[in-house]
Amino acid sequence: MGLLQGKFAIITGAASKNGLGKATAKLFAEQGATVAILDLDEQAAKTAAADIGAQHVGLACDVTDKDSCYTAVRTLIEIWGQIDILVNNAGITQPLKIMDIEPKNYDAVLDVNLRGTLYMTQAVTPQMREQKIGSIVNISSVSAQRGGGIFGGPHYSAAKAGVLGLTKASARELAPDNVRVNAVCPGFIATDITGGLLTPEMLESIVAGIPMARAGEAKDVAGCCLFLASDLAAYVTGSEVDVNGGSLIH
Ligand code: NAD
Repeated sequence: MGLLQGKFAIITGAASKNGLGKATAKLFAEQGATVAILDLDEQAAKTAAADIGAQHVGLACDVTDKDSCYTAVRTLIEIWGQIDILVNNAGITQPLKIMDIEPKNYDAVLDVNLRGTLYMTQAVTPQMREQKIGSIVNISSVSAQRGGGIFGGPHYSAAKAGVLGLTKASARELAPDNVRVNAVCPGFIATDITGGLLTPEMLESIVAGIPMARAGEAKDVAGCCLFLASDLAAYVTGSEVDVNGGSLIH
C-alpha cells in the first residue's frame, strides 16, 4: 500500500514539465494519492494531470488571485469531499541585483511566492480544520537561508524567507486542529525556472559549491514532500527541511 493511499492532494504550479511540482504530483500518485494540478494555463494543467493518470484533475488557478484559489478549492471539495494535502509549489524567480529591482519585479515575485502561499493556505484551512487532518508543504528555497546568491535576486530571497515565517506561524496556529505545515528548502535543482538564463559557466560555479557535486533533481525534492505529506511525518510541524546536497549546512 502506498504512503498516500486514499489521500487527496493539491499541488500548485505543477504543470511545468520538468518542474518540482510535476515530479511531486507523479510521486504522490504512485503512492496512492489522487492529485489536483493547479497552474495558470488550464490546458497545461489538464495535460499534466492526464499524464499521471486518468483520475487526477487539472485546474486553472492563478495563486495571486484569492478568488481563483477559493474557486479551485471549492471545485475540488465538491468532487472529492476532502482535501488532505496542499503543496504550495507555484513560484517564479528573477536574477536581479538589488538596484535593478523595479516595483513590478517586487510585486511579481512576492505575489506568486508569498501571497499565493497565503491565499492557498487560507482556501484549504476551513476544510482541513473541519476534517481535523491536513498537511501543507510550502516550497521555500536555500536562497532564503543563505541570502540568495544562486539564481534569484534579493526580492526572491525575501519572498522565500517570508514563506518560512508564514510556514512557522501557520504551523503554530493550525496545530491544535492536527493540520501540519512544513517548508522544504531546495538548493539548486535543474528545472525550467531559470528560463534559459542559466549559462554553462553559472552552472559550473554552482556545482562547485555543492558538496555532493551535482545539481539536485526534481525527484529529490518530491521525496521530501512525500515524507512531509505522509503520516510518517505525523508529529512534524513548523520545520524547514533542506534538500540541497550539502550546499548549506547550518
Ligand atoms: P518551474 O518554473 O518549472 O515551475 C513553476 C510553475 O509555477 C510553472 O508551471 C508556472 O506556470 C507556475 N506558476 C507561476 N506563476 C503562477 C501563478 N501565479 N499561479 C499558479 N501557478 C503559477 O519551477 P520549479 O523549479 O519547478 O519551481 C517550483 C518551486 O520550487 C518554486 O516555488 C521555486 O521558487 C522553488 N525552488 C526551485 C528551485 C530550483 O532550483 N529549481 C530551488 C529552490 C526553490
